Amino acid sequence: MPLLLPLHFGKSYARRYLFNKQWGLFSKSPKIFLNNARIKREKINPGDPWRYYFDVSISGEKIFGFKDFANDILTKAQCVIGIDRGEAKPIAYTVLGLHNKEALEKGFLAGDYIEKLKNYDALRRDYQSRGRIVPKYLKSKITRLQKTLLETAASEILTLIAKYKGVVILENLNDKFRGSEKSLIPKKTYKKVEKLLTDSLQLAGLLRTDNKGSYWGALKTVFPAGTSQTCLKCEQLWNKDFKEEIISYSKNKDYQNIDYTDKTLNFYKKIYLNETYTVFYRERKYNEKKNLEDLQDIIREKEDAEIIRYLKMAIGPRIAQDTFICGLCGFKENADIVGATNIAKRGVNLIQKIIQR
Ligand SMILES: [Zn+2]
Repeated sequence: MPLLLPLHFGKSYARRYLFNKQWGLFSKSPKIFLNNARIKREKINPGDPWRYYFDVSISGEKIFGFKDFANDILTKAQCVIGIDRGEAKPIAYTVLGLHNKEALEKGFLAGDYIEKLKNYDALRRDYQSRGRIVPKYLKSKITRLQKTLLETAASEILTLIAKYKGVVILENLNDKFRGSEKSLIPKKTYKKVEKLLTDSLQLAGLLRTDNKGSYWGALKTVFPAGTSQTCLKCEQLWNKDFKEEIISYSKNKDYQNIDYTDKTLNFYKKIYLNETYTVFYRERKYNEKKNLEDLQDIIREKEDAEIIRYLKMAIGPRIAQDTFICGLCGFKENADIVGATNIAKRGVNLIQKIIQR
């Protein structure tokens, strides 16, 4: 299989392929052979930086069909590694056991770069909010930092794969049904993680891509819709529909189902209300802090539009200081970790289905 290995600054993947003790080019039983001892370079547009590649051929011990190849890897896997783009921190991950669905490890990738990126991003937003042009140096600084962060994240994911014998689960970036783009890492940039991971996994013999671009092996994608709104404990999906259902149910009860001292609302199950919440006035671009007494007042005044506006915010899950809090069961967890864990859960289900087939 002829391959072009991208050369990175710092941690060079090509170097690993050359010097790996078990299978590298210079080991006793190499599985990698030079195709033509050449460094290739290419660029698409005249202004682009050159991209350098190392040109090699790789040999495989066995030749499997895509399905056999993938099943072989998936049945040997011990866990999945769910990756999600976060809102507060760029990339969250959860390692989930394939058999017991227990979280073995969770956290955030590329920790060293998060604060820096946040600061520059805040600076950029500041320029934008004042209607000023973001200076070129700042834009390129952010782009460079995002790139470094993603490269670091990708290499940390590879470490997790090796440590846990895991299959990587990424969000399917073609899914359009996912709220606004609030993440520190835009979709377009995040594609890079996918690219870096697929390149490395292919070279490690853990992944193949068919001519339709589908992945076979140690990387799978799942649709991310609802993953950031689903409670990890009771599995309630806290989307718009569920909230609207609660609101119209309450309206039919003339809001008599709200207990202000208990701070609960009686739906089919008891729902815990937020004691304080923020109401946003779009037309005035204005946030106002409210509490349950305010809700009680507005219900007495019988202003329907206002009641709905208040009630929507009073019912959970609230994401406060980056924490997801379920209004049904009281479960609490970092909101980005909730996203990564739900992606991992979907990955486990997907893999179990594939293996059983
Ligand atoms: Zn819950």
